[in-house]
Amino acid sequence: MAYDAQEFCLRGTPICRGIAVGRLYFFDRKEGVVPDITLSPHDVEKDVIRFREALNNSKRDIKHLQSQLESEGALEAVVILDSQLIMLEDPLLTTNIEVTIRETKKNAESVFRAAIRKYQEKFDAISDPFFRDRFKDIQDISRRVMEYLNKGARVSLHDIPPGSIVFAPDFTPSEMAETKSIAVGAIVTEVGGTTSHTGIVAIAKGIPYVANVSFELIDFSQEYVVIVDGRKGEIILNPTVKTIEKYERLKIHLQSQMKGLERLCTLSAETIDGYQVRLSANIEMSHQIDLVHRYGGHGVGLFRSEYIFFPKNVIPSEEEQYRIYKRIVDRMKGRSLVIRVFDLGGDKAVPGYSMLKEGNPFLGCRAIRFLLREKEILKTQLRAVIRAGIGAPVSVLFPMVSTMTEFLEVKKIVRDTEEEFGISPKKGIRIGCMIEVPSAAIIADHLAKECDFLSIGTNDLVQYSLAIDRGNQYMASRYDPTNPSILRLIKLITSEGDQGQIPVTLCGEIAADPRFTMLLLGLGVQELSVAPRYIPIIKHAIRNTSILEAVDLAERALCSATSQEVMDLISGAYKRNVPEDYLYNC
Ligand code: PEP
Ligand code: MG
Repeated sequence: MAYDAQEFCLRGTPICRGIAVGRLYFFDRKEGVVPDITLSPHDVEKDVIRFREALNNSKRDIKHLQSQLESEGALEAVVILDSQLIMLEDPLLTTNIEVTIRETKKNAESVFRAAIRKYQEKFDAISDPFFRDRFKDIQDISRRVMEYLNKGARVSLHDIPPGSIVFAPDFTPSEMAETKSIAVGAIVTEVGGTTSHTGIVAIAKGIPYVANVSFELIDFSQEYVVIVDGRKGEIILNPTVKTIEKYERLKIHLQSQMKGLERLCTLSAETIDGYQVRLSANIEMSHQIDLVHRYGGHGVGLFRSEYIFFPKNVIPSEEEQYRIYKRIVDRMKGRSLVIRVFDLGGDKAVPGYSMLKEGNPFLGCRAIRFLLREKEILKTQLRAVIRAGIGAPVSVLFPMVSTMTEFLEVKKIVRDTEEEFGISPKKGIRIGCMIEVPSAAIIADHLAKECDFLSIGTNDLVQYSLAIDRGNQYMASRYDPTNPSILRLIKLITSEGDQGQIPVTLCGEIAADPRFTMLLLGLGVQELSVAPRYIPIIKHAIRNTSILEAVDLAERALCSATSQEVMDLISGAYKRNVPEDYLYNC
């Protein structure tokens, strides 16, 4: 079905907000046939050398890409490619392949392809989308190495005409990294997600990106003009002149808005009426700390420590962990750092451990439950954190607490571990409790007496309260943080935090959506922790909020019966207070 005459619209998942107008370009990389050859004895060593050269050339390409990304300021993307460089040193991809070429006398391409397939089988067995997504990095490396082994297969992004809107079934992280933001207007793919490395690179580079778009209705032989609205996840094909003009204007407004926000980095996160908010960052990798400093974050409100398993996929020893945490502490330059212990288990396979076969892994042996079962992993991590944190403002945070008993148990383990180092409980590390399960919210009064701070993880709190799997694409429209039940739980937690005189942070994704800022402050949240990139936009929202108005808005939202009423209230207030925000006022 060809839609070459009329404007029509497709929808997908918005990954990187932003607007682009351009011509459609379909990026199709043909995989090519991989030859399978038995080598003559004197060709075997030649193939080993050919393979080594392909690896070295791939490493050189990646390093070159990294310096290009660094000059563009896309630091998160540099880190992602670091993990690819480490994978290229993995014996599975280096010595093992050389040994196999020698043993089997098969050509490098076919041995390499077989190794990648083995990797794929391992990753296919993992159900967690984040961990499964890491396979994309391996595919990315594999494609690059294969292109060097099999020169005819190289497909270049440089052939894409400048300003194109690139449609591709999928896009790898390094392809996204190679993409020049001035040359490619936007990316549209059939698959992908916000936690994917490709998504993180797109956000780091500021390239509008919409994923999960069905290509079924597109006739790729047509020369479509396309508008991508990465704010809403909308793709408009064959737009009218009027529509194009509207989006061109929006694009200009957006560019000047972004420039304007940069000047906020040195200003404080303070409301119109002088209420100081702590605005911190959620980080997964140590390089992101540079962004926390650049954007003027108070500190790190959530370090998701399980990310240190990548890219090697093994649990580091105490000494290795100590070095990782110490490097992070030093990079923080005296700013506060909250290290969340490993949020693992359930469907997140732990390297070297045989996981339980569970029917409902998200309701199973996850996070604190897993660590209490595998106490040596917890104790090793705690020893490393405690040692790295001596003399620095470091706190430890426990995810997915659902009962007082389990919290008291981990608290005792922390204090016992400190005793090993001669640290008295009075001088002990600050201990935080994540509130991600409704039962924990309901007993927040008891928990508040036993911990130093509470941290609300709304990503999970919404999942467990509404009984909606946060990764279920079919239920995505029902996964709704504006549900009044969630607001009531947040209010309950902040009130109990107040009573217990301990601070309450919110570190779920809603903290990074400026439409929620006023509501969250009004509900009594004192600290917001967001991905570093979002610090300026949330600071801007805070600086346009009056705390009195925020409390009034929260009271009205708490009386609402439906999510729609809450959304109308918060969007309306946001439009009135921050009318010039073209990213979120859509
Ligand atoms: C949360 O659940 O809100 C949270 C911040 O933790 P994560 O997203 O890592 O589960
Ligand atoms: Mg969580």
